Parts: sequence; C-alpha cells; structure tokens
Amino acid sequence: VVKLRKSGVPMPRTPQVDAERCTHCGYCVKHCTAGAIIKGDECNTVAEKCIKCCACVKGCPQKARTYDTPFAVLLSDCFKKQKEDRIIL
Ligand code: SF4
Ligand code: SF4
Repeated sequence: VVKLRKSGVPMPRTPQVDAERCTHCGYCVKHCTAGAIIKGDECNTVAEKCIKCCACVKGCPQKARTYDTPFAVLLSDCFKKQKEDRIIL
C-alpha cells in the first residue's frame, strides 16, 4: 500500500455503481455501516462518509457496485477474515 501511495496512484473516493444493473434491493443501504448509501438513491455514494470497506461491493447481488483500483486486491486481502480483538495500551 505504501509503495502504491508513493507512486501517486489515485485512490477512487467511492465505489462505482452501474445503474443499469442496480435493482434497488437495498442490500447495500442495510450493510453500509458508514451510512454512505441512502435508501432510494442507491446508485450514488456519499463520498464524505464512505470508508472504502467494500461491504457493498462484495454483497451486491447484481454485482452493480465495483471498486476498480490497484488497492482493491490489498484491501480484499486485509478484510478477508476478521482479526482478533487486541488491547493496545
Ligand atoms: S445492493 Fe446492488 S442492486 Fe441492491 S441497491 Fe445496492 S447497488 Fe443496487
Ligand atoms: S465501501 Fe463501505 S463505506 Fe463505502 S459505500 Fe460501500 S459499504 Fe459503505
């Protein structure tokens, strides 16, 4: 990630949405913990709220949401399994 950032690769602010595929099922609204997707306006994302977790991308039944960036593989690896809780003193 550090290498990519230093090379100046721009990171998209939010996932992209293919409006042709979206059926407005509401899955992404329900599973976006950041509240970045508004019911009834599922084809857009509030950039200021999006934390780029990709929960909407992974769960969209229509595959309407994508996050096309060289960071995607790294992010996917990072979020593949839940990490154990740690206490930092
Ligand atoms: S989960 Fe996919 S199909 Fe459902 S509302 Fe969101 S973008 Fe549309
Ligand atoms: S990437 Fe995460 S925070 Fe951003 S819109 Fe999707 S579910 Fe919400």
